[in-house]
Amino acid sequence: MQLAKRRRKKKTIHQPKENNTAPVFLLKNWKAIGISVLSLLFVVSAVTFYLFRQTENLKKANQKLSYQERVTSEGLQEMKKSFVVIDSALHEINQKMRKRGLEELHAEHMGGPIESEESIGDLSAYYKNTLKVLDEKLSIVPVGMPYQGEITSSFFYRSNPFTHRGREFHSGIDIRGITGEPAKTTADGVVRYAGYKGSYGYVVMVEHEGKFETRYAHLSKLKVKKGDKVNVGDTIGLIGSTGRSTGPHLHYEILHKGKKIDPQTFIEL
Ligand SMILES: [Zn+2]
Repeated sequence: MQLAKRRRKKKTIHQPKENNTAPVFLLKNWKAIGISVLSLLFVVSAVTFYLFRQTENLKKANQKLSYQERVTSEGLQEMKKSFVVIDSALHEINQKMRKRGLEELHAEHMGGPIESEESIGDLSAYYKNTLKVLDEKLSIVPVGMPYQGEITSSFFYRSNPFTHRGREFHSGIDIRGITGEPAKTTADGVVRYAGYKGSYGYVVMVEHEGKFETRYAHLSKLKVKKGDKVNVGDTIGLIGSTGRSTGPHLHYEILHKGKKIDPQTFIEL
């Protein structure tokens, strides 16, 4: 019993001795352990600091990148907008140009699109004005054919078709025709004379602005009377062979300031 007690005692006495091995180890190697712990702490903090710095740098880089992206996309948007503006302006101009049968403009030939747009505005206004004036003049000046047919005799001296002797002055053009078909006035004006007059036969004389006059002779029937206002294209009479005529045709004359001129110069512009 005492032995067992002693052993137990011994055991209880020995136990703290065994437990003291760690502090002993610590006491013995405190330097090495301290250095190790400090080294570990240093490494950990260094890594932490490094990672923190890296994250910050990454964040900054991301911010910078997104800013640049934003700037770039904004710039692209602006560029796209200005291109759309130029494109639509050019499209509008070209529509105007096409309507006037003019050559289309191309962006590569334009120095400044806004400046060109303004000058095109002036240009289109000019053309609009010019075309208006031209249109007005065209209705006044006798232009075109009073009847569609073959021109059998021009404005010149020719041999007398009746006597075949000597030469005579042909004061207009002869257009071969079919009796009863309409003869039309070549300009707006007022009928100065409508009736029978010697070699003309039945004739209509129309006064126009700008001291122009047109005459339509050898008619079979008159469709207007003196003082009538006529518009370009109106039927003034019907084709015939009255007066000094060898067959159904229209004798057409143009006078300017009372002087007979060649109608063929007015048939085409
Ligand atoms: Zn004639």
